[in-house]
Amino acid sequence: VYTNPIKSADIKVQNAGGVITLHNVTSVKKLEQIRTEFVSNVTHELKTPLTSIRGFVETLKDGAIEDTAVAIKFLDIIDIEAERLYHLINDILQLSEIEIMRNDEHVSPNSLNLIVDDVVQLLEASANKKNIKLEVNIETDILICINKYRIKQMLINLIDNAIKYNVENGAVFITASKSKGTTTISVKDTGIGIPQIHHSRIFERFYRVDKGRSRNMGGTGLGLSIVKHIINLYNGDISVISEPGKGTEFIIRLPL
Ligand code: ADP
Repeated sequence: VYTNPIKSADIKVQNAGGVITLHNVTSVKKLEQIRTEFVSNVTHELKTPLTSIRGFVETLKDGAIEDTAVAIKFLDIIDIEAERLYHLINDILQLSEIEIMRNDEHVSPNSLNLIVDDVVQLLEASANKKNIKLEVNIETDILICINKYRIKQMLINLIDNAIKYNVENGAVFITASKSKGTTTISVKDTGIGIPQIHHSRIFERFYRVDKGRSRNMGGTGLGLSIVKHIINLYNGDISVISEPGKGTEFIIRLPL
């Protein structure tokens, strides 16, 4: 075992056994930096709704409660902020759960068609509110050996975004096909689109193209990051095609 005092990073060499473990100081530092940034982002994201809740409670206690109409408005805001906190905590927990998970590819085959039907049913009500059509087109029965809760979560996040960032009377097209050992899933919308300069960053934790819009829609800034983590877990990949004002398409490729 050799410890390099200059780099102050552990370099373990067990030559006799043929195992060499090198910890590069730059990657260790980078990981530390990512973790610190994440904690500071989480703190900020949790504090924002909490500060708002405390502010409105204070104002109510100071007398606003006497005016029923104002009180109801403030209570509604408190309710929305509390819900935001709930979603945020849920997403943070999910993300850390996926991070420590291993590829559980030994799960029994699940029908992608049934999973998509489930998700569409779940999100139909929010699509109806904006009169958005959810169109599914899966060419054949597709079986995937992936934990069905993970694939469901991934589809919920993508389709939920496709509704959130869509226009009134818009549409969301969900298609899937398989060929040569790969399942391809596409979620395409007719929404506001994403400018090219943001494409490479939208999968980062807490990255939002438009902070205000995301918050107004109840977004946590973690949805796509969760999607990306799930896809990485199964050695798949995701790409985005999008143009402002025209819509967005996310394409996922997963090994069968
Ligand atoms: P959020 O909770 O803010 O929606 P996500 O991680 O799901 O966070 O997405 C990151 C950002 O990417 C969003 O804030 C939004 O700006 C953009 N985005 C994601 N999906 C879409 C979409 N279908 N259409 C337009 N913009 C999108």
